[in-house]
Amino acid sequence: ATTRKPLLAGNWKMTLNHLEAIRLVQDLAFRLEEKDFDRADVVVLPPFTDIRSVQTLVDGDKLGIAYGAQDISAHDSGAYTGEVSGSMLSKLGCTYVVVGHSERRQYHAETDEVVNAKVKAALKHELTPILCIGEGLEVRKADGHVSHCISQLDGALSGLSADEVAKVVIAYEPVWAIGTGEVATPENAQEVCAAVRERLADLASPEVAGAVRVLYGGSVKGSNAGAIMAQPDVDGALVGGASLDAEDFTRIVRFD
Ligand code: PEP
Repeated sequence: ATTRKPLLAGNWKMTLNHLEAIRLVQDLAFRLEEKDFDRADVVVLPPFTDIRSVQTLVDGDKLGIAYGAQDISAHDSGAYTGEVSGSMLSKLGCTYVVVGHSERRQYHAETDEVVNAKVKAALKHELTPILCIGEGLEVRKADGHVSHCISQLDGALSGLSADEVAKVVIAYEPVWAIGTGEVATPENAQEVCAAVRERLADLASPEVAGAVRVLYGGSVKGSNAGAIMAQPDVDGALVGGASLDAEDFTRIVRFD
């Protein structure tokens, strides 16, 4: 048995304007009950432009829904056109931030060094980084997935103290399973999540490794969430497409 509280996070990606965001959060708030929040942490990760609207709803209604951003600048402030800093996110009540999503690594050339700097920026501003790691199809076919993910983990957590590692959430997201409908098997997810936890014990301590939440992400839906979450080292899910559907996301939150 584990004492880790499951975490279900919805990555809305670049979808939903602020009115659509309000509608989705209201729909989720209508469906989710206190016992759902007792059992699991529920997080939504809207585009930057929706965060203020989500904040207003969550504050006003004392909902159990937490929220955060999909990216963070490695810098605190200054001449970084288009970037958003950790202090700006904290000021809006964000408590989580996605760092190193495969779409950022792929389309915005984020290296392990950049991801490492962003993890540090998040921690500095008391945001919980949801650090994404995961292999592409070629690496998986060549059976290099575990070492690939561990190398990304090492790079992203470089220079962190054990106390800092304890504050991070890891999301294993095989790139071939993101947005493709091709979900990893529960055993695929377990294999990498267990290897991540083992590595966390080396990087920090067995206690920290036992407490850090390791999520799976990649085509999670209400219909497959239960089997994935039943794996001993999978503590939750980072959900893209299905998080835009309040009914299905509620099913994911209530996985069984
Ligand atoms: C994601 O964006 O992190 C993700 C896992 O997407 P999807 O659930 O749509 O595969």
